[in-house]
Amino acid sequence: MSFTVKILGCGSALPTLHRNATAQIVSHNNQIFLVDCAETTQVLMRRQSVRIGALNHIFISHLHGDHFFGLFGLLSTLDLSGRKGEVYLHCPPRLQQMLESQYSPVLVHELGYTLNYVPLSPDGVSLTLETKHLEVYSFPLNHRIPCWGFIFREKPLPLNIIKECIPRYNLTIAEIVAIKNGSDLTLEDGTVIPNSELTIEPPKPKSYAFVTDTTKLDSVVEAVRGVDVLYHEATYDNSYERRASETFHCTAGQAATVARDAGVGKLVIGHYSGRYESVGLLEKQAREIFPNTTAAEDGMVFEV
Ligand SMILES: [Zn+2]
Ligand SMILES: [Zn+2]
Repeated sequence: MSFTVKILGCGSALPTLHRNATAQIVSHNNQIFLVDCAETTQVLMRRQSVRIGALNHIFISHLHGDHFFGLFGLLSTLDLSGRKGEVYLHCPPRLQQMLESQYSPVLVHELGYTLNYVPLSPDGVSLTLETKHLEVYSFPLNHRIPCWGFIFREKPLPLNIIKECIPRYNLTIAEIVAIKNGSDLTLEDGTVIPNSELTIEPPKPKSYAFVTDTTKLDSVVEAVRGVDVLYHEATYDNSYERRASETFHCTAGQAATVARDAGVGKLVIGHYSGRYESVGLLEKQAREIFPNTTAAEDGMVFEV
């Protein structure tokens, strides 16, 4: 099953000429999910041929403008495009009130589709979405205001049946289903064919974690332990550690330490301060601690 992440923006609060603020598209088996929605998101989606109409679930990490100011325009565009199916907004609880009363009552009440709010839980790692093939969890971070990370986990697939076994044993649909779920096969003469001779293991489930706007946290290490790919904010290079802690952010070295301690497969860093035109230094510092690190850039696509 395909599982990719497309970086729409990986800058922080101040957009620069080369970087937009945070937004990314997680694609899994023809479903797309938007994670954060900075100001330019819908334009970037169009530019990169992301089908806005295919969007059913939007995840918002926190209510700083560089993570959600694009939401108003996007929700409106969905309406103008004739959207009828429901849209789910997995978001800090306060966003519902902001959208419905403070900012834009007209926008929300006249939408031609139903907007469902799924408030993120303050209590540890919590399931916020389950689809046929995926589970999405949220977990609290430590920022100046309430903030959450997300983990997209593939569900384990059933065992794959060895095709030749179907005609060989004249298997019925019910027998195939049972074998895929781990049962042995008993033939009419009482012979038992063990499951291991009928099936092969499915691919290992993959997982992706998104962590932005936080100090370095042990609870994040636990939450993202063993994921295949971790996107972690690295707002500053290591010489700004004090500034990072004052503003509730991380350095490249801190992001890499989380990746190393959590035993993830690959680290992608992002959410860079506007002071960095090139992020080679941040990537270098992260690689000294966790070699399999890539510095995100806008437009980058990576496989999970
Ligand atoms: Zn931010
Ligand atoms: Zn923030």
